[in-house]
Amino acid sequence: MALLFDAIIVGGGPAGAAAAKACAEGGLRALLVERNALPRSKACSGILVRASVDLVSRHFGAIPPDVLAEPATLQSLRMHFPSGRTLDVPLGGAFVRRGPFDQWLRRAAGVEISEGTTARSFEESADAVTVQCTRGPGEALVVQGRVLIAADGGTSRIVRATAPERHGRLAWYTALQEAWTAPCGLEPGCFHFFAYPSISPYASAYVKDGKTVLEVVAAAGDSAKAAMSRFSELLKRDFGLGEGGRRVCRLGCRVAYAATRGLFCFGSGRILVAGEASGLLNPFGEGISSALASGRIAGEAAVRALRESRVPGDLYRAAVEVERQRTLRQFRYGGYFAGRNVTFDVRKGLSALPVTGRIGVVADLLGWLASLGGPEGPRPEGRLGSR
Ligand SMILES: Cc1cc2nc3c(=O)[nH]c(=O)nc-3n(C[C@H](O)[C@H](O)[C@H](O)COP(=O)(O)OP(=O)(O)OC[C@H]3O[C@@H](n4cnc5c(N)ncnc54)[C@H](O)[C@@H]3O)c2cc1C
Repeated sequence: MALLFDAIIVGGGPAGAAAAKACAEGGLRALLVERNALPRSKACSGILVRASVDLVSRHFGAIPPDVLAEPATLQSLRMHFPSGRTLDVPLGGAFVRRGPFDQWLRRAAGVEISEGTTARSFEESADAVTVQCTRGPGEALVVQGRVLIAADGGTSRIVRATAPERHGRLAWYTALQEAWTAPCGLEPGCFHFFAYPSISPYASAYVKDGKTVLEVVAAAGDSAKAAMSRFSELLKRDFGLGEGGRRVCRLGCRVAYAATRGLFCFGSGRILVAGEASGLLNPFGEGISSALASGRIAGEAAVRALRESRVPGDLYRAAVEVERQRTLRQFRYGGYFAGRNVTFDVRKGLSALPVTGRIGVVADLLGWLASLGGPEGPRPEGRLGSR
């Protein structure tokens, strides 16, 4: 016998928590299903850009001190180029510990939560969606909702089931994050991004809670561990990454940039897909702001649809278009120079440099962008019109 709810939300990251909060505020009886029981570890830097901070403070209130990292904010995204030049792009926002942050968000959402519960499969009928879950070692749980909000992250099982062809059409990268006790000469308070295509399309390092954290994304045909080893060698040679440190954490995950191929997937009918599951992720790997925004939009669409006895899919797809457009804009790299991109204001960073330095850095940036696919970046190849 299935437990009955208005809405079932699968995934307790930022998208799921934001959806749950909107459902609770709209008076829906909602259940949030999260496969992890404890604050989970997620390969993520934990930077909340200003848009994320605005959404969190508007819908959840002030971020508790124990969720904030040390330092609690990063002043800039410092881009390092092989020429030795650097560019500081103002950052601000907040710097959080992902496990406690996600747990705080989902507990503040005000819906029933089933942690340690994995959604395995689902079935959609004319007026409901039934979800088969397992809890703990093999205990079955069957839940039913009039709406299913899939917020189960970039490798979403629900999206794979609803649009199996999409998964194979995406280019998947492996991201690897390591935290070391070894000290480093990198300036704390900055997110150091290394625009070194010979190391990785995305290599970054920063100091967080007294540890040095390194992140790489492996390009097609490369191994993430090999990219990490090249990166740590560079940091040892040029930035004083200390010997003798101990690795305290290694996390990996798979990432795909759906926007570059137009492969977003927002669901249809009674299934709404939010957050990274839908493909919302910007080229710098920033995804929390759109997870919070699209989760909120999905929750609001569910509330409105149930109030007006409508099917929520169309409402959601129309309302989430603003987030789809925002993500696409961030892949048009010309906007970074024109100051049209509010997430990372490259123009502001450039204007702080002396004219000669600016010319060199623009040349570095263009060289790096060319290595990624040209100043306008990879172009969307059309949309997967289905779910
Ligand atoms: C190395 C790296 C660094 C990053 N740094 C940043 C950053 O600094 N700032 C930023 O904004 N973004 C960053 N991102 C991106 C960001 O982490 C994601 O875009 C964001 O977490 C997406 O949120 P979400 O809620 O959609 O999904 P997730 O945060 O992935 O949450 C999905 C949740 O669903 C749960 N789940 C999955 N499947 C099931 C299932 N079957 N049943 C039940 N539960 C399930 C998972 O356990 C998880 O809790 C980074 C990504 C990477 C890889």
